[in-house]
Amino acid sequence: MIVVMKVGTPEAEINRLGSELKELGLTPEKIVGAHKVVIGLVGDTATFNIELIQEMSPWIENVLRVEKPFKRVSLEYRHGQYSEVVVPTPNGDVTFGPNHPVVVVAGPCSVENEEMIVETALRVKAAGAKFLRGGAYKPRTSPYAFQGHGESALELLAAAREASGLGIITEVMDTADVEKIAEVADVLQIGARNMQNFALLKKVGAQNKPVLLKRGMAATIDDWLMAAEYILAEGNSQVILCERGIRTFDSKYTRNVLDLSVIPVLRSLTHLPMMIDPSHGTGKSEFVLSLAKGAIAIGTDSLMIEVHPNPKKALSDGPQSLTPDAFDQVMQELAEVEKLTGRGQKELATV
Ligand code: PEP
Ligand code: MN
Repeated sequence: MIVVMKVGTPEAEINRLGSELKELGLTPEKIVGAHKVVIGLVGDTATFNIELIQEMSPWIENVLRVEKPFKRVSLEYRHGQYSEVVVPTPNGDVTFGPNHPVVVVAGPCSVENEEMIVETALRVKAAGAKFLRGGAYKPRTSPYAFQGHGESALELLAAAREASGLGIITEVMDTADVEKIAEVADVLQIGARNMQNFALLKKVGAQNKPVLLKRGMAATIDDWLMAAEYILAEGNSQVILCERGIRTFDSKYTRNVLDLSVIPVLRSLTHLPMMIDPSHGTGKSEFVLSLAKGAIAIGTDSLMIEVHPNPKKALSDGPQSLTPDAFDQVMQELAEVEKLTGRGQKELATV
Protein backbone atom coordinates (compact mmCIF):
# COMPACT_ATOMS: atom_id res chain seq x y z
CA MET A 1 0.00 0.00 0.00
CA ILE A 2 1.23 3.54 -0.60
CA VAL A 3 0.18 6.81 0.96
CA VAL A 4 0.72 9.78 -1.35
CA MET A 5 1.19 13.04 0.57
CA LYS A 6 0.12 16.41 -0.75
CA VAL A 7 2.80 18.78 -2.10
CA GLY A 8 4.20 20.85 0.78
CA THR A 9 3.25 18.48 3.62
CA PRO A 10 5.27 19.54 6.69
CA GLU A 11 8.02 17.11 7.71
CA ALA A 12 6.57 16.91 11.24
CA GLU A 13 3.22 15.74 9.86
CA ILE A 14 4.90 13.00 7.81
CA ASN A 15 6.77 11.83 10.92
CA ARG A 16 3.62 11.93 13.05
CA LEU A 17 1.71 9.89 10.49
CA GLY A 18 4.65 7.44 10.25
CA SER A 19 4.51 6.81 14.01
CA GLU A 20 0.76 6.30 13.91
CA LEU A 21 1.08 3.79 11.07
CA LYS A 22 3.77 1.93 13.03
CA GLU A 23 1.37 1.61 15.93
CA LEU A 24 -0.99 -0.21 13.56
CA GLY A 25 1.74 -2.83 13.00
CA LEU A 26 2.80 -1.51 9.58
CA THR A 27 6.32 -0.71 8.38
CA PRO A 28 6.20 2.79 6.86
CA GLU A 29 9.01 3.78 4.52
CA LYS A 30 9.39 7.41 3.49
CA ILE A 31 10.16 7.86 -0.21
CA VAL A 32 11.12 11.40 -1.17
CA GLY A 33 10.51 12.04 -4.85
CA ALA A 34 11.21 15.08 -7.00
CA HIS A 35 7.74 16.49 -6.38
CA LYS A 36 6.05 14.48 -3.69
CA VAL A 37 6.62 12.41 -0.61
CA VAL A 38 5.15 8.92 -0.64
CA ILE A 39 4.92 6.59 2.35
CA GLY A 40 5.30 2.95 1.35
CA LEU A 41 3.62 0.43 3.62
CA VAL A 42 4.39 -3.25 3.72
CA GLY A 43 2.97 -5.68 6.19
CA ASP A 44 -0.42 -7.24 6.39
CA THR A 45 -2.26 -4.42 4.63
CA ALA A 46 -4.91 -6.59 2.94
CA THR A 47 -7.31 -6.16 5.82
CA PHE A 48 -6.71 -2.41 6.19
CA ASN A 49 -9.47 -0.13 5.15
CA ILE A 50 -8.22 2.54 2.74
CA GLU A 51 -10.68 5.16 4.07
CA LEU A 52 -9.42 4.57 7.60
CA ILE A 53 -5.88 5.49 6.59
CA GLN A 54 -7.10 8.38 4.44
CA GLU A 55 -8.71 9.91 7.55
CA MET A 56 -5.46 9.82 9.52
CA SER A 57 -4.25 13.14 8.06
CA PRO A 58 -5.70 16.01 6.03
CA TRP A 59 -2.34 16.09 4.20
CA ILE A 60 -2.95 12.70 2.56
CA GLU A 61 -3.71 13.06 -1.12
CA ASN A 62 -4.38 9.44 -1.91
CA VAL A 63 -4.02 5.90 -0.56
CA LEU A 64 -3.39 3.18 -3.14
CA ARG A 65 -2.95 -0.56 -2.99
CA VAL A 66 0.09 -2.13 -4.70
CA GLU A 67 -1.55 -4.94 -6.63
CA LYS A 68 1.67 -6.73 -7.67
CA PRO A 69 3.18 -9.62 -5.68
CA PHE A 70 6.42 -7.63 -5.46
CA LYS A 71 5.99 -4.49 -3.38
CA ARG A 72 9.15 -2.51 -2.66
CA VAL A 73 10.60 -3.09 -6.13
CA SER A 74 7.41 -2.11 -7.92
CA LEU A 75 7.12 1.16 -9.78
CA GLU A 76 3.81 1.76 -7.98
CA TYR A 77 5.59 1.68 -4.63
CA ARG A 78 7.54 4.81 -5.63
CA HIS A 79 4.49 6.30 -7.28
CA GLY A 80 6.11 6.18 -10.72
CA GLN A 81 9.50 7.64 -9.80
CA TYR A 82 12.49 5.70 -11.06
CA SER A 83 15.27 5.18 -8.56
CA GLU A 84 18.98 5.58 -9.12
CA VAL A 85 21.88 3.58 -7.80
CA VAL A 86 24.83 5.85 -7.11
CA VAL A 87 28.12 4.01 -6.65
CA PRO A 88 31.16 5.83 -5.27
CA THR A 89 34.35 4.75 -7.09
CA PRO A 90 37.91 6.11 -6.88
CA ASN A 91 37.23 7.99 -10.16
CA GLY A 92 34.05 9.57 -8.71
CA ASP A 93 30.40 8.68 -8.30
CA VAL A 94 28.79 6.61 -11.06
CA THR A 95 24.99 6.68 -11.36
CA PHE A 96 22.84 3.91 -12.80
CA GLY A 97 19.43 5.19 -13.83
CA PRO A 98 17.25 6.09 -16.77
CA ASN A 99 18.25 9.76 -16.73
CA HIS A 100 21.99 9.16 -16.76
CA PRO A 101 24.49 8.07 -19.42
CA VAL A 102 24.72 4.33 -20.12
CA VAL A 103 27.24 2.81 -17.69
CA VAL A 104 29.54 0.19 -19.19
CA VAL A 105 31.01 -2.57 -17.03
CA ALA A 106 33.80 -4.53 -18.70
CA GLY A 107 36.48 -7.07 -17.93
CA PRO A 108 37.32 -10.73 -18.06
CA CYS A 109 35.09 -13.56 -16.94
CA SER A 110 37.70 -14.63 -14.35
CA VAL A 111 40.57 -12.88 -12.66
CA GLU A 112 43.50 -14.97 -13.88
CA ASN A 113 46.62 -13.09 -12.76
CA GLU A 114 47.71 -9.59 -11.79
CA GLU A 115 49.15 -8.62 -15.15
CA MET A 116 46.03 -9.50 -17.14
CA ILE A 117 43.58 -7.91 -14.72
CA VAL A 118 45.54 -4.66 -14.41
CA GLU A 119 46.11 -4.48 -18.16
CA THR A 120 42.43 -5.11 -18.87
CA ALA A 121 41.39 -2.51 -16.30
CA LEU A 122 43.56 0.16 -17.88
CA ARG A 123 42.40 -0.68 -21.40
CA VAL A 124 38.67 -0.75 -20.61
CA LYS A 125 38.99 2.45 -18.62
CA ALA A 126 40.68 4.18 -21.54
CA ALA A 127 37.80 3.06 -23.77
CA GLY A 128 35.19 4.55 -21.41
CA ALA A 129 34.13 1.75 -19.06
CA LYS A 130 33.28 2.85 -15.51
CA PHE A 131 33.59 -0.53 -13.78
CA LEU A 132 35.91 -3.51 -14.01
CA ARG A 133 34.24 -6.88 -13.73
CA GLY A 134 36.05 -10.15 -13.02
CA GLY A 135 35.23 -13.25 -11.04
CA ALA A 136 37.32 -14.43 -8.10
CA TYR A 137 34.75 -17.11 -7.27
CA LYS A 138 33.30 -18.72 -10.39
CA PRO A 139 30.10 -20.74 -10.65
CA ARG A 140 31.03 -23.48 -13.13
CA THR A 141 28.85 -26.24 -14.51
CA SER A 142 31.66 -28.77 -14.10
CA PRO A 143 33.42 -29.26 -10.77
CA TYR A 144 36.57 -30.00 -12.79
CA ALA A 145 36.56 -26.64 -14.58
CA PHE A 146 38.54 -23.63 -13.30
CA GLN A 147 36.73 -22.42 -10.18
CA GLY A 148 38.42 -19.02 -9.87
CA HIS A 149 41.41 -18.14 -7.69
CA GLY A 150 39.19 -17.15 -4.76
CA GLU A 151 40.59 -14.92 -2.03
CA SER A 152 43.91 -14.27 -3.75
CA ALA A 153 42.02 -12.92 -6.79
CA LEU A 154 40.33 -10.35 -4.52
CA GLU A 155 43.76 -8.84 -3.87
CA LEU A 156 44.35 -8.66 -7.62
CA LEU A 157 41.04 -6.86 -8.08
CA ALA A 158 42.09 -4.42 -5.37
CA ALA A 159 45.35 -3.82 -7.28
CA ALA A 160 43.41 -3.21 -10.52
CA ARG A 161 41.09 -0.80 -8.69
CA GLU A 162 44.07 1.08 -7.35
CA ALA A 163 45.80 1.21 -10.74
CA SER A 164 42.74 2.27 -12.76
CA GLY A 165 40.39 4.00 -10.32
CA LEU A 166 37.55 1.88 -11.72
CA GLY A 167 34.84 0.51 -9.48
CA ILE A 168 34.90 -3.28 -9.06
CA ILE A 169 32.01 -5.67 -9.68
CA THR A 170 32.58 -9.27 -8.68
CA GLU A 171 30.42 -12.26 -7.89
CA VAL A 172 29.58 -13.60 -4.46
CA MET A 173 28.40 -17.21 -4.33
CA ASP A 174 28.49 -18.00 -0.62
CA THR A 175 27.04 -16.14 2.37
CA ALA A 176 30.31 -16.76 4.21
CA ASP A 177 32.24 -14.67 1.66
CA VAL A 178 30.04 -11.57 1.58
CA GLU A 179 32.01 -9.40 4.05
CA LYS A 180 35.37 -10.34 2.56
CA ILE A 181 34.24 -9.59 -1.00
CA ALA A 182 32.51 -6.36 0.06
CA GLU A 183 35.88 -5.05 1.28
CA VAL A 184 37.10 -4.96 -2.32
CA ALA A 185 33.96 -4.80 -4.46
CA ASP A 186 31.99 -1.63 -5.10
CA VAL A 187 29.04 -3.71 -6.33
CA LEU A 188 28.31 -7.33 -5.36
CA GLN A 189 27.15 -9.55 -8.21
CA ILE A 190 24.65 -12.35 -7.63
CA GLY A 191 24.97 -14.68 -10.61
CA ALA A 192 22.21 -16.31 -12.62
CA ARG A 193 22.68 -19.63 -10.83
CA ASN A 194 22.17 -18.02 -7.43
CA MET A 195 19.26 -15.76 -8.27
CA GLN A 196 17.03 -17.74 -5.94
CA ASN A 197 19.62 -18.50 -3.27
CA PHE A 198 17.46 -16.89 -0.63
CA ALA A 199 20.03 -17.06 2.15
CA LEU A 200 22.46 -15.17 -0.08
CA LEU A 201 19.81 -12.63 -1.11
CA LYS A 202 19.01 -11.93 2.55
CA LYS A 203 22.68 -11.60 3.38
CA VAL A 204 23.44 -9.05 0.65
CA GLY A 205 20.20 -7.28 1.55
CA ALA A 206 21.46 -6.78 5.09
CA GLN A 207 24.71 -5.06 4.08
CA ASN A 208 25.14 -1.75 2.32
CA LYS A 209 27.05 -2.35 -0.91
CA PRO A 210 24.93 -2.13 -4.09
CA VAL A 211 23.91 -5.46 -5.61
CA LEU A 212 23.82 -6.54 -9.26
CA LEU A 213 21.17 -9.25 -9.51
CA LYS A 214 21.41 -11.36 -12.65
CA ARG A 215 18.31 -13.03 -14.00
CA GLY A 216 18.26 -16.79 -13.51
CA MET A 217 18.51 -18.69 -16.76
CA ALA A 218 15.01 -20.13 -16.33
CA ALA A 219 13.49 -17.36 -14.26
CA THR A 220 10.35 -15.48 -15.19
CA ILE A 221 10.36 -11.73 -14.75
CA ASP A 222 8.16 -12.16 -11.65
CA ASP A 223 10.63 -14.68 -10.16
CA TRP A 224 13.43 -12.20 -10.78
CA LEU A 225 11.59 -9.24 -9.25
CA MET A 226 10.58 -11.35 -6.24
CA ALA A 227 14.28 -12.22 -5.78
CA ALA A 228 15.07 -8.48 -5.83
CA GLU A 229 12.26 -7.98 -3.30
CA TYR A 230 14.21 -10.20 -0.84
CA ILE A 231 17.13 -7.78 -1.01
CA LEU A 232 14.98 -4.67 -0.59
CA ALA A 233 12.99 -6.32 2.21
CA GLU A 234 16.23 -6.59 4.22
CA GLY A 235 16.82 -2.86 3.83
CA ASN A 236 19.11 -2.58 0.81
CA SER A 237 17.39 -0.77 -2.03
CA GLN A 238 20.51 -0.36 -4.16
CA VAL A 239 19.79 -3.11 -6.66
CA ILE A 240 20.51 -3.23 -10.40
CA LEU A 241 18.78 -5.94 -12.46
CA CYS A 242 20.88 -7.67 -15.12
CA GLU A 243 19.43 -9.63 -18.04
CA ARG A 244 21.99 -12.18 -19.24
CA GLY A 245 19.97 -14.44 -21.49
CA ILE A 246 17.56 -17.24 -20.75
CA ARG A 247 17.24 -20.86 -21.84
CA THR A 248 14.74 -21.65 -24.55
CA PHE A 249 14.38 -24.55 -26.99
CA ASP A 250 16.99 -23.08 -29.34
CA SER A 251 20.61 -22.91 -28.25
CA LYS A 252 22.29 -24.01 -31.44
CA TYR A 253 23.69 -20.67 -32.58
CA THR A 254 23.79 -18.65 -29.37
CA ARG A 255 24.53 -19.73 -25.81
CA ASN A 256 21.30 -18.21 -24.47
CA VAL A 257 18.42 -16.13 -25.78
CA LEU A 258 19.02 -12.54 -24.76
CA ASP A 259 15.63 -11.16 -23.79
CA LEU A 260 15.76 -7.50 -24.78
CA SER A 261 12.03 -7.22 -24.26
CA VAL A 262 12.78 -6.97 -20.54
CA ILE A 263 13.90 -3.37 -21.07
CA PRO A 264 10.44 -1.87 -21.62
CA VAL A 265 8.80 -4.54 -19.47
CA LEU A 266 10.98 -3.80 -16.43
CA ARG A 267 10.52 -0.08 -17.02
CA SER A 268 6.77 -0.60 -16.69
CA LEU A 269 7.02 -2.76 -13.56
CA THR A 270 9.91 -1.58 -11.44
CA HIS A 271 11.75 1.58 -10.45
CA LEU A 272 15.09 -0.25 -10.31
CA PRO A 273 17.81 0.44 -12.89
CA MET A 274 18.78 -2.30 -15.32
CA MET A 275 21.76 -3.79 -17.15
CA ILE A 276 22.06 -5.97 -20.25
CA ASP A 277 24.84 -8.54 -20.65
CA PRO A 278 25.19 -9.43 -24.34
CA SER A 279 28.35 -11.49 -23.65
CA HIS A 280 26.65 -14.23 -21.63
CA GLY A 281 23.47 -13.52 -23.57
CA THR A 282 24.93 -14.67 -26.88
CA GLY A 283 28.10 -16.55 -25.87
CA LYS A 284 29.82 -15.29 -29.01
CA SER A 285 32.03 -12.23 -29.28
CA GLU A 286 30.90 -11.55 -32.86
CA PHE A 287 27.31 -10.93 -31.72
CA VAL A 288 28.08 -8.67 -28.76
CA LEU A 289 28.11 -5.37 -30.67
CA SER A 290 24.71 -5.91 -32.34
CA LEU A 291 22.95 -6.82 -29.13
CA ALA A 292 24.65 -4.04 -27.18
CA LYS A 293 23.53 -1.51 -29.79
CA GLY A 294 20.01 -2.87 -29.62
CA ALA A 295 20.00 -2.70 -25.84
CA ILE A 296 21.06 0.96 -25.87
CA ALA A 297 18.54 1.82 -28.56
CA ILE A 298 15.76 0.23 -26.51
CA GLY A 299 16.86 2.04 -23.37
CA THR A 300 19.04 -0.03 -21.05
CA ASP A 301 20.78 1.88 -18.25
CA SER A 302 23.97 -0.14 -18.41
CA LEU A 303 25.84 -2.92 -20.17
CA MET A 304 28.17 -5.70 -19.09
CA ILE A 305 30.74 -6.79 -21.66
CA GLU A 306 33.44 -9.42 -21.22
CA VAL A 307 36.92 -8.34 -22.34
CA HIS A 308 40.09 -10.43 -22.18
CA PRO A 309 43.59 -9.55 -23.39
CA ASN A 310 43.86 -12.93 -25.10
CA PRO A 311 40.42 -14.56 -25.44
CA LYS A 312 41.81 -17.75 -27.00
CA LYS A 313 43.75 -18.43 -23.82
CA ALA A 314 41.02 -17.38 -21.36
CA LEU A 315 40.36 -19.79 -18.49
CA SER A 316 36.62 -19.20 -18.83
CA ASP A 317 34.25 -17.69 -21.42
CA GLY A 318 36.92 -17.01 -24.06
CA PRO A 319 34.55 -17.39 -27.06
CA GLN A 320 32.36 -14.52 -25.85
CA SER A 321 35.18 -12.19 -24.78
CA LEU A 322 36.28 -9.21 -26.84
CA THR A 323 39.91 -8.21 -27.20
CA PRO A 324 40.73 -4.75 -25.82
CA ASP A 325 41.08 -3.49 -29.42
CA ALA A 326 37.66 -4.84 -30.37
CA PHE A 327 36.22 -3.30 -27.19
CA ASP A 328 37.61 0.13 -28.20
CA GLN A 329 35.76 -0.15 -31.49
CA VAL A 330 32.56 -1.36 -29.82
CA MET A 331 32.60 1.58 -27.39
CA GLN A 332 32.92 4.07 -30.25
CA GLU A 333 29.97 2.55 -32.07
CA LEU A 334 27.89 2.42 -28.90
CA ALA A 335 28.56 6.10 -28.22
CA GLU A 336 27.03 6.90 -31.64
CA VAL A 337 23.88 4.93 -30.82
CA GLU A 338 23.59 6.53 -27.39
CA LYS A 339 23.82 9.99 -28.96
CA LEU A 340 20.93 9.14 -31.29
CA THR A 341 18.68 8.07 -28.43
CA GLY A 342 18.83 11.52 -26.82
CA ARG A 343 19.34 9.77 -23.49
CA GLY A 344 19.39 12.13 -20.54
CA GLN A 345 17.88 15.01 -22.51
CA LYS A 346 14.38 14.60 -21.13
CA GLU A 347 13.50 13.22 -17.75
CA LEU A 348 11.96 9.77 -17.77
CA ALA A 349 9.22 9.46 -15.19
CA THR A 350 5.71 8.15 -15.32
CA VAL A 351 4.29 10.98 -13.23
C1 PEP B 1 29.62 -14.02 -15.13
O1 PEP B 1 29.21 -12.85 -15.06
O2 PEP B 1 30.78 -14.32 -15.43
C2 PEP B 1 28.64 -15.11 -14.91
C3 PEP B 1 29.02 -16.29 -14.45
O3 PEP B 1 27.40 -14.75 -15.28
P1 PEP B 1 26.00 -15.54 -15.17
O4 PEP B 1 25.74 -15.68 -13.71
O5 PEP B 1 25.08 -14.60 -15.86
O6 PEP B 1 26.16 -16.84 -15.89
MN1 MN C 1 31.59 -15.20 -17.74
